[in-house]
Amino acid sequence: MIDKTSGEIIKAVHAAGVIGAGGGGFPTHIKLNCRVDTVIANGSECEPLLTSDKTLLKENPGLVIRGLQYAMIATGAKTGYIAIKAHYKDVAAALTKELPTDGNIKLHFLENYYPAGDEFLTVYDVTRRIIPEGGLPLQVGVLVGNVLSLAQVAHAVDGKPVTERPVTIAGSVKQPQVITVPIGTPYNDLIQMAGGTLQPTDVIIDGGPMMGCIVENRNQGIAKTTSGVIALPEDHFIINMQRTTISRMVKKSKAACCQCFRCSDLCPRNLLGHALYPHMTMRTIDYNQSEPTEHVTSAFLCSQCGVCELIACDFMLLSPRKVYAQYKKLLTARGVKNPHHRSDINIVPELEYRKVSLPTVIKKLGLSQYVKNTPFTGYRSVGRVRVPLNRHTGVPAEPTVAPGRKVKMGDVIAASPSDKTGAVYHAPIAGTVTEVAGAWIEICN
Ligand code: SF4
Ligand code: SF4
Repeated sequence: MIDKTSGEIIKAVHAAGVIGAGGGGFPTHIKLNCRVDTVIANGSECEPLLTSDKTLLKENPGLVIRGLQYAMIATGAKTGYIAIKAHYKDVAAALTKELPTDGNIKLHFLENYYPAGDEFLTVYDVTRRIIPEGGLPLQVGVLVGNVLSLAQVAHAVDGKPVTERPVTIAGSVKQPQVITVPIGTPYNDLIQMAGGTLQPTDVIIDGGPMMGCIVENRNQGIAKTTSGVIALPEDHFIINMQRTTISRMVKKSKAACCQCFRCSDLCPRNLLGHALYPHMTMRTIDYNQSEPTEHVTSAFLCSQCGVCELIACDFMLLSPRKVYAQYKKLLTARGVKNPHHRSDINIVPELEYRKVSLPTVIKKLGLSQYVKNTPFTGYRSVGRVRVPLNRHTGVPAEPTVAPGRKVKMGDVIAASPSDKTGAVYHAPIAGTVTEVAGAWIEICN
């Protein structure tokens, strides 16, 4: 029996420090403060090798459903969907057993393509509504929440803050697995829990192979958004692409972009009808056009999914994604706002045929040898955590503790100013605060 009001749920979620756990990191209490007709629990987890969300749904389907029900109460939604891959038969069976009998929550089965978890695509897949350019699901009456975030919403209502999360450790490691660890667990410790890397020179990525980032300092701790830690050889295609600088990319583009427009053909946002044409943007930089044109400002429409770079341009090895990231940074620094807001949009008719299947992504990325069973090995604590305070959308959290302070698990250790977009952080382990830096807090026990 759920007897909470919208206000009580939102307040509890804020206090518990719930943010988008799928990678976005947007504070969930702000997201829940809206009125929509539909909430989608996003369990598509479309990044290759990652199985953290799948594991959660199998291990604790009732918790995700309860979180979804709270999100529906908070937003006034009458319909809820849990979006999962169609071939996750075991997950579907586990969820079906727990679904409420009123029929307000349904399962929605997604094709196995990348990036099925991009909320613009998830919303279209589930509801056939198209989110406007530069818009939010809310504009079409939908709220999308990652399944782990929704499980954390349920915990928040029970008074339990976010102190841990499941993480997939995969790639070039000896024992790939999914393990639940405290937020702030050092990357090195996680790799050791998986038996170490296959080669001492392997590089590790926080997140999935398509959208994750290279971890330069393995002493730092995982964030609330760290769904995976993937090890790859230092000369792997993905690592080489990540390490190519923007200036080198621009030089290469001038010489090598053949304007085949495969990047535009396969761009998921272009397929949804948004005015994003990466091949035109590459042409713009190749000819040194300095004034913002629509092919520069369209950087605001790019989701950074990486299809153009890692799938479409796998022969020329160019990266429209990197160019868009740089343009967005420069435009934002100049105070330029997104001018693209069309809502009268039609999908590209070829959308269904141009989706890139996950097996194709795995093959193209050279990840086939790393597709292995990732058993869930339960919860493991650690003796030291470094909790990052800036890995959410908004203003970084400010420490509320000083070195030497003893903390219990769940004590508040940092919070963003209450009038700003941000998040609250809690001690993931009991112990003593040993260091407080600008961007993280270290606790040892
Ligand atoms: S796919 Fe590569 S070569 Fe083709 S237009 Fe795009 S950036 Fe240029
Ligand atoms: S990263 Fe590339 S494929 Fe993805 S949305 Fe941006 S331009 Fe399109």
